[in-house]
Amino acid sequence: ISPAERRPIRELPDELISQIAAGEVVERPASVVRELLDNALDAGASQITLRLASGGVRLISVEDDGLGIPREELTVALRRHATSKIASLVDLETVGTMGFRGEALAAINSIAELSILSRFAGADTAFALDGRTGELRPVARSTGTTVEVRELFFATPARRKFLKTDATELAHCIEAVRRHALARPEVGFSIWHDGKLVEQWRAASTREQRLADALSDEFVAQSVAVDHEGGPVRVIGRAGIPDAARSRGDQQFFYVNGRFVRDKVLSHAVRSAYEDVLHGQRQPIYALYLEIDPSRVDVNVHPTKIEVRFRDGREVHQAVRHAVEDALAAPRSSDAVAPSG
Ligand code: ADP
Ligand code: MG
Repeated sequence: ISPAERRPIRELPDELISQIAAGEVVERPASVVRELLDNALDAGASQITLRLASGGVRLISVEDDGLGIPREELTVALRRHATSKIASLVDLETVGTMGFRGEALAAINSIAELSILSRFAGADTAFALDGRTGELRPVARSTGTTVEVRELFFATPARRKFLKTDATELAHCIEAVRRHALARPEVGFSIWHDGKLVEQWRAASTREQRLADALSDEFVAQSVAVDHEGGPVRVIGRAGIPDAARSRGDQQFFYVNGRFVRDKVLSHAVRSAYEDVLHGQRQPIYALYLEIDPSRVDVNVHPTKIEVRFRDGREVHQAVRHAVEDALAAPRSSDAVAPSG
């Protein structure tokens, strides 16, 4: 590059900044689903309805019965780095909500047609905001929020080309909902695709019930209860018996403070717990929920928040390993929970 070719340093336009950020967060329709579900759960929803058209590319709509958004904040919700969830570094270090970066809605709005309909708790009207025009108009709905996302990646055709068939994108969307559903048994979820109900998991009173509904009765029947406290770490959930192991690791769910994560420390700890009972490449099934003081785990590692960093990885590794080992060694009859339905 020669001096004549060089461009001067300039700040990028807002829209482009959002589109760049969107590249990190939104890979496919399922990424949008995940962000919108996080928001619905953070708002205290007890019932969440997802409606998709054409694998989510044409439409992703998430309706919740949470707290809603006050009219005067609807426009702000679409700005970059605008959030109601943290206000300081101290908040960030102890964050208990799924979201906190204030990026998702702004990012989605820059790569799709977005609108938000919301009625704030106690307000007597609902309002709809058009993300493109900024127009705000009164609409009818009960307390809660619906976010509608149409024509994903219409402005970024390069990304659009990477999308798979509708059926594949739908499967990823369902998996995203399942991950949330396994974390929050008390919340009801339903999924519609092209006008048809494809999944429905009613609010469940126990974790086992939700695991049976959203995974399978076999998952519960072929697993044992895990409940272990090691130092500041508590591990609960279910670990599959060795006979239930499969060739694919598609029934391995790990949560840290309610957030689905992928983490080497955690998966290594589980693998070592199965070391003596599982041979070859067989993958155990499990759904494990780690509860830890939020200040001992950094969730601000990756924009998608699927990765975390533990302050003391060894203590977590040990707790998880012991939790699973103890569960596998315990007699099985005591935790036989018969799933119903
Ligand atoms: P974050 O979740 O990190 O705060 P988002 O861009 O996802 O950032 O959302 C911005 C803000 O909009 C949230 O902080 C929240 O106040 C509000 N919001 C978004 N979705 C909902 C919802 N479903 N119900 C209530 N408030 C919402
Ligand atoms: Mg969010």
